[in-house]
Amino acid sequence: MNFISEFQKMQAEVHRNARDKGWWDDDMPSDDGTKISLMHSELSEALEAMRNGNPVSDKIGPLSNLVEELADVVIRVMDYAEARDLPLALAILKKHQYNTGRDHKHGGKALPGRSGALRLHSPLRTVRDSFPSHGSSTCKGSLWWGSRN
Ligand SMILES: [Mg+2]
Repeated sequence: MNFISEFQKMQAEVHRNARDKGWWDDDMPSDDGTKISLMHSELSEALEAMRNGNPVSDKIGPLSNLVEELADVVIRVMDYAEARDLPLALAILKKHQYNTGRDHKHGGKALPGRSGALRLHSPLRTVRDSFPSHGSSTCKGSLWWGSRN
């Protein structure tokens, strides 16, 4: 199987279906932000599926709701790539190849609470280190936790 040719066939089919259903009837370049927002919305639906215990999908069961929403993400991305003539399959291959050569956790990226890496670069620490006499709870409230007033 050739990944690029098979992916492109599916991408073209996904876009053809989206056009048939009217999703591109009023296409304008200014709609691109909306198209990307709709990709985000499918990720939010995936999160909601997890929060709801990931039940069996009522549309593609016995597959789960989570995997259905992840499929929606990919479908929307494929649809957009086809409409804008973007070489998505090639980009996936090239980016994956690039990622295989990257450092562990891409050189130290981490989420808060999973390691101390991000804490070292937090705005709070920057303010405290830059202005030691003002590194009080006042700065903490405005930069890290939001205003309490
Ligand atoms: Mg969905």
